[in-house]
Amino acid sequence: MTTIVDTDLLGDLQKFGAADVNACFSCGNCTALCPLSDNDATFPRRMIRYAQVGLTDELLGSKELWTCYHCGLCSDSCPTEADPGEFMAAARRYAVASYDPTGLARILYTRPVVGTALAVGIAAFFALFMYAASGPQDGSTLALFEFISEDLIHWTGIGVMIALVVAGAIGVVRMARHVARRDHVSLRSVIGGRAALARTARAAWSSIGVESLGQRRFREDCKDDAPAEPLYRRRWLIHALTIWGFLGLFAATLMDWGLALLGIKETGTAIPIWYPSRLLGTIAGISLVYGVTIFMINRARRLTRSAQTSTASDWLLLALLWITGVTGFAIEIALYQSGAPAWGYWVFLFHVAVAMELMLLLPFTKFAHAMYRPVALFFLALAKEPRPQEA
Ligand code: SF4
Ligand code: SF4
Repeated sequence: MTTIVDTDLLGDLQKFGAADVNACFSCGNCTALCPLSDNDATFPRRMIRYAQVGLTDELLGSKELWTCYHCGLCSDSCPTEADPGEFMAAARRYAVASYDPTGLARILYTRPVVGTALAVGIAAFFALFMYAASGPQDGSTLALFEFISEDLIHWTGIGVMIALVVAGAIGVVRMARHVARRDHVSLRSVIGGRAALARTARAAWSSIGVESLGQRRFREDCKDDAPAEPLYRRRWLIHALTIWGFLGLFAATLMDWGLALLGIKETGTAIPIWYPSRLLGTIAGISLVYGVTIFMINRARRLTRSAQTSTASDWLLLALLWITGVTGFAIEIALYQSGAPAWGYWVFLFHVAVAMELMLLLPFTKFAHAMYRPVALFFLALAKEPRPQEA
């Protein structure tokens, strides 16, 4: 296989926030201190070496890049101030931009002014698009789907979901091809026969169930802020609450549509707190808003090692998540008010526009970690499973 050397790689990585790692002389301090290095004597410094010598394909095919949770312990011990923890974070940003064929992720990460203008423009587009077809704002209670038709939101949402799934799938396939090529994993070894499928299923459970949803390594191995931080501020919990909250809200929205389809209730109407979709939505909303708020405080005040450097894209994602969560609660309050307050209609329009933008931009922001990390952890778990003929 031909090895391509990219002499611009290090400079490009610096645009994504990496420090100058040329001074790294592979002393191994970072490896010795990293709680996630396992028995890998080259983690994380091998990734730095790839950057130094310009091995882009090796870097983009490194599943190990995604096992780092940016605790920063390695950076504190680096004698050359190469900041390996921040390097790993920057390399993941670079990878997200490289797997994305549209170039949007790169703009959001490296051109803050253009990225912010784009984000405002997309939200304004969705709001104007919905408002252009808006109906009356009156009645004794809020009639949200008379103001913006349910069909319009439904079909716009489906269009956005299709764009999200296509963009996400392209990124995941590109990443998986990089990792599979580097690790010599063939399609046959993943799905070729019952033994291979069983091995794949075990690796998928480990990556999605145990690590991504259960946060096992983050919870048990990353001891950066424990026991100094109380449980409610621990990074793994904040991370988990944000992910669980997001997934819970998504499930509650689907459940709401399901109840409407079954004729049990109309979407966008006030229902008792004990309705499953309302209960799940409320718990998930609190979880999301709490998690995102702590993340924002940490970033604004640079309270954790991982919050020392923030890109405009990081803030964009947090802002979109927070606005979506908080305006969702504001709509709930408006729904229970008598006299259909006018502000409820405007909050609803804003909420829908921002939620659409959030979904559309997910694969291009830090949320892309939720797609790429499970893939990397899958390959990592797969490598630990005995091959079918050896089992
Ligand atoms: S501690 Fe610093 S100098 Fe040593 S290997 Fe890690 S990054 Fe390089
Ligand atoms: S930031 Fe933490 S998890 Fe990541 S490489 Fe450094 S020590 Fe390991």
